[in-house]
Amino acid sequence: MSLVLRGGLLVTQDAQRLVVTADVLVEDGRIAAVGPVDASADQVLDCTGCAVLPGLINAHQHVANTLLRGVADDVPLEEMLERAFSIDARFTRRDVQIGALLGCLEMIRSGTTSFHDLFYWEDEVARAVRESGMRGFLSWNTLDEAFTTQRGTPVKNADQFVAKHKGDPLVTPSVGVQGVYVASEETYLGAREVADRHDVRLHTHLSETRPEVYGHVEKTGMRPVEWLETIGFLGPRLTAAHGVWLTLNEVRTLARHGVSVAHCPVSNMKLASGGVAPVPEMLQEGVAVSLGTDSPISNNGMDLFADMKVAALLHKSSRWDARAMPAQTVLDLATIGGARALGMERELGSIEVGKRADLAIVSMRGAHTTPFYPDKVISHLVYACRGSDVQGTIVGGEVLMADGVVRSLDEEDVIARAQETSRDLYEA
Ligand SMILES: [Zn+2]
Repeated sequence: MSLVLRGGLLVTQDAQRLVVTADVLVEDGRIAAVGPVDASADQVLDCTGCAVLPGLINAHQHVANTLLRGVADDVPLEEMLERAFSIDARFTRRDVQIGALLGCLEMIRSGTTSFHDLFYWEDEVARAVRESGMRGFLSWNTLDEAFTTQRGTPVKNADQFVAKHKGDPLVTPSVGVQGVYVASEETYLGAREVADRHDVRLHTHLSETRPEVYGHVEKTGMRPVEWLETIGFLGPRLTAAHGVWLTLNEVRTLARHGVSVAHCPVSNMKLASGGVAPVPEMLQEGVAVSLGTDSPISNNGMDLFADMKVAALLHKSSRWDARAMPAQTVLDLATIGGARALGMERELGSIEVGKRADLAIVSMRGAHTTPFYPDKVISHLVYACRGSDVQGTIVGGEVLMADGVVRSLDEEDVIARAQETSRDLYEA
């Protein structure tokens, strides 16, 4: 199968951050040529008036929680979790699958091509990933048995999930750990052993709130980063979500161990975590930083365009520095930075020959994106565009959406099923 994207303004995100008007030839799921393409193709998408970007990468998510969108707003994290868990405890496998499908639909609509999920029943999420055609980096969440509603032992469940899905073209399985407040040293090391044995990645929540950090100091005498380093959990396999309450020394510790961070500014602001993740320092120290929406309960959406804008504004505002986190840096977090954070920079995150053809086509013809100048495209993408400007989404050369019409899923059916399922959960 071949595909040509004709006449778009390519925001390549390559090493030179080249922006150029050109065609893209896709063959067998990969980018085969960038430039003038004369070859005829099985499929041609007209991209005039549009920017073509590497598909966005949502580096921290709990996709099935779309079903809980709007049920726990304007309350702090502890209250949100209590409310969420009481509904979540009633989830069936089918609910998780429908919630995940709804999330995939929302992401396809807003130009996200890869997401990094942390949940139980990830095999249901995997089913939704394959049905929708998205790329899922799915981490089976582990925690101490005393705290879980999972049947069986979480670490063993994670082991089985990874063994079952390894080598899948769209699903990359990995091992998650919820966080230091519900996971002992034994759980962390069990998760790490599974990841090492299968050679897959690790994903955890880390230093999200002040109570998490100081609660851990009270319990162990150490801050979470220090403790995870002591027990031997930190390493290049790990992506840590949040990293809000970090000292500069801890940032350096993460950099030294090659740990990547998923920055989730909207979730942190909505839950009033209080601090601001020291992202400029992370970048300065060489930490691979990516961008995540976090759960649809604490965001409440998965439109990374919205989160890019908030990421830029949050750091400027909190530092009284309009030069902090410029648009290019923020776009990097959602593209090549996300790929780097997941250890996928050779395959994803930029438009370069040989990479997987994961692409988003973004219209620049809206009232809110006019006037449009090609040399201002990065700024428009971060400050002016919305997810709804995305006209086309392509994963591995498969066109999941074109001309604003989703092809891989029956959109009306997914929305109707999700609405019905959510009502049953909420009203039960
Ligand atoms: Zn999370």
